[in-house]
Formats: sequence, C-alpha cells, structure tokens
Amino acid sequence: MIHTNSLCNSEALKKGNWVKLICGASNQDLASINDLCSIYGTAGVHCIDLAADEAVINAARNALDWVFETHGKKPWLMISLSDGKDAHFRKAWFNPDLCPSNCLRPCQNICPAHAIENEGGVKASKCYGCGRCIDTCPLGIIEEKDRRLTLKDFAPLLTTIKPDAVEIHTAPGRAKEFEKTMKEIFKVNLELKRLSVSCGLQGHGINHEKLAEELWLRHKFLRIHNQKPLWQLDGRRMSGDLGTGAAKIAVKLWEKIRPIAPPGPLQLAGGTNESTINYLPEISGPEGVAFGGKARKIIQPWLEEAQRKRMSLRDWPEGWEAALSEAKKLINPWLIRKSS
Ligand code: SF4
Ligand code: SF4
Repeated sequence: MIHTNSLCNSEALKKGNWVKLICGASNQDLASINDLCSIYGTAGVHCIDLAADEAVINAARNALDWVFETHGKKPWLMISLSDGKDAHFRKAWFNPDLCPSNCLRPCQNICPAHAIENEGGVKASKCYGCGRCIDTCPLGIIEEKDRRLTLKDFAPLLTTIKPDAVEIHTAPGRAKEFEKTMKEIFKVNLELKRLSVSCGLQGHGINHEKLAEELWLRHKFLRIHNQKPLWQLDGRRMSGDLGTGAAKIAVKLWEKIRPIAPPGPLQLAGGTNESTINYLPEISGPEGVAFGGKARKIIQPWLEEAQRKRMSLRDWPEGWEAALSEAKKLINPWLIRKSS
C-alpha cells in the first residue's frame, strides 16, 4: 500500500499534477498543523512541507497516520532547512509593555496568522515570519528573530525525524553553504525521495539567468550525491493570500526559468493561489505547485473555531466538511490537469 502510494506521489511529479502543502518553515502551531495535514492529506496533496521541529513532525504524523488509515493516502513528509539567513526562518517579536494604550494595533490587524494577541505580543508558535507586521508599527519596535537551526543540529534531527524529503532554502552566492548543508544531511543514511531546492529572485538583485546559473551549481552537487531534484521557484515569498498579482509573479518566473533550468521537475511557490493555474499559458508544465498562505487562509475560520472548541477538526463534522470543500476547490484543478 505504501509502495503504491509512493509511486503515486512520484507519478504526480512526472505528469504535472503534483501539489504540495506548505505548513510553513517556522509554523509551530501544533493544533493547526494537525488539522491542516488532516484536511489537505484527505483532499489529496502529494507532499506536506513542515518546520524542522520534532513536535511539529509528531503533530503532522498523527494526522497523516489517520489519513492513511482512513483514506489510504500517504503524502510525503518534507522538512525545510536553510543554508543561510532566510525570511522563511524567522519570527517577529516585540515587547508589548512598550506599546501605547491608544495604538490602533495595525500589527495585529495585518497578521494573517492571527499571531498577535489583544494587548499582548507575538505568539511565537503561530508566527510564520511573513514580516508584514514589521513595517506597520509606528514606533518601529517590532524586531525579526532568526530561527534557523545550526548545521550541527541537522544530523541529529534528521536521524530522529526520518523525513521522506528535504527542502533546502538557498540564495544566490551560497553554493558553498549549500554544499556544506548537503554534507550534513548525508551524514544520516536517509533514502530521500526528493531533495528540493527553493530559491527565488526577490531581494537578491539578480535576474532569472543568474538564478538559473545558481540552480545549475546546486544541480552539480545533487548529481554527485545521486539525489533526485525538485526545483521550487519562490516567486514572491509568503504572499499567496495577497491576490492575483502575486500569482502572476510566480508564473512569470517559471516562464523565464523553464527553458534554462537544470533537469528535474519545477514547482511554483511564493504567491501561488487559486488564480495561478489561470495564468499558465498552456496545459504543459510546470510539474507542480505548492500552496502555503492561501491554503491556510481559506480554512482559517474552521481551524480557529476548532481551537476555540478545543477539538480536532476531524471531530467536528460540520467544520470538517466545510474546510475540506474549500481545500478541494483550491487543489482539485491541479490534481485533474494533464501535461501534454
Ligand atoms: S504578521 Fe507575519 S511576521 Fe508578523 S506576527 Fe504575523 S505571521 Fe509573524
Ligand atoms: S503597532 Fe507597534 S506599538 Fe502598536 S501594538 Fe503593534 S507593536 Fe505595539
């Protein structure tokens, strides 16, 4: 059964039907992660991308075991690591004692994760580092805190977690750091189904040709280590819930990179939402899509209500059906599309 499903996930990458759920490289909201994995695993995603954190993985595995027992589906479990400073691996923080009582709290209003509480500060477990609150504060008191693991943490964590796949977030100019990260990963004898490389243009001051050169450098390392690649093109990071503009940016990056990218499946991310598929000029390619902020936003009301009820969404039939229906609306167009 597991073998069949594993082929199914690989086949989806070949056919162009691949869908990944991004729970968030910094998201540690365990109740929501359990519900997200239950809903999107049932809806049919092929992979779930999670923070490299044992508690997060346990919450996800609990849900995915249930999905397998109930529906026979087994998405790959991927963890995200970074080879250097990266916005996906940060948390916002401020001291609420410094906030004037008459502040209208724009930080709280803009936070898509509802991680900033009334009269309080940032609830770290819910913050996934999108950074939107930082510039809204009139006093400029919101800081970002780096939450990356250090290199020496990788091997012990991977030994414990044993993920199906690993994603390395990288940036232009970090080929050496990327190689060092890979070497740490390979200290553990894991048979990874995919080694994903995530990179975009945003904030790096380079064009798509230079980005392709950087991907080719990573490709060389992957070949040396006999790894199967998955190239994640990060259009406009953590912005899928912001609308059609972000969706277009992700598609445009793919259009430019596709002819000059190294071999291996390409996956859109960073700005992906329900509009993304409409902007693709033809039915063929990219091989997959990853949904993050949008996937969370559309089922957020039920995630929060379940938390208020102190129960899993799986135990609340009305909430479950409503959330599952929204999840299917987002991912079904990808699950049924065919590459020519
Ligand atoms: S707006 Fe983004 S960075 Fe700020 S607290 Fe919310 S999730 Fe964290
Ligand atoms: S906007 Fe700044 S001052 Fe106002 S509540 Fe948020 S952190 Fe405090």
